[in-house]
Amino acid sequence: MIHIIFFGPPGSGKGTQANYISEKFKFFHLSTGEMFRKHVIEQTLLGNIVQTYMSKGLLVPDEVTTNMFKEELNKHNNIKGLIYDGYPRTLNQAKNLDEILKKKFLEKINLSIFFSIKDEILIKRLSKRSKISGRLDDSSILIIQNRITEYHKKTKPISDFYKEKKCLITIKAEGSIYQVKKRLENVILKKLK
Ligand code: ADP
Repeated sequence: MIHIIFFGPPGSGKGTQANYISEKFKFFHLSTGEMFRKHVIEQTLLGNIVQTYMSKGLLVPDEVTTNMFKEELNKHNNIKGLIYDGYPRTLNQAKNLDEILKKKFLEKINLSIFFSIKDEILIKRLSKRSKISGRLDDSSILIIQNRITEYHKKTKPISDFYKEKKCLITIKAEGSIYQVKKRLENVILKKLK
């Protein structure tokens, strides 16, 4: 089984690419953002808790996120590969994920792919997305800025964690969806060889 993390700033295209790649390689795609949005729509207890954070562009606390993530992961067995999209987003979560994989599969992360992109491009993409996605967290420039600040403060540091483990790969997330897709496919195919 192969474990691949997609991480990078909001708007870097992780979700779009995770959809393509999971379909192409028949991997399972786990997106914490999607899980949270589903809870919000269904107005579950968890949905009510996380909505306050998400609508402000803040990260949901680690414990809440990890509990939900573990519960979701436990529903899936006999899979060829997993794409982690949006988890881990903090150093604490990265350490938790290592523990979870060790316990559940006796395995570890094979690849952590960092989507590298300039902040100016993100702001443009997210403002454009807000017009079609209807997502609360895309709705104002202030919230978008918050998400980017949270990312630099809490998520970017996980790149050092994976660099030390020698599984970090950086890909350029600028350019067309097709170009990024090809870059990702090459990286993953090389790893599968
Ligand atoms: P994007 O990558 O565009 O920011 P996501 O759909 O991945 O969007 O996540 C949306 C929101 O869900 C985040 O801004 C955050 O509030 C919450 N979220 C998702 N994953 C995590 C996580 N691992 N830890 C904490 N909060 C998270």
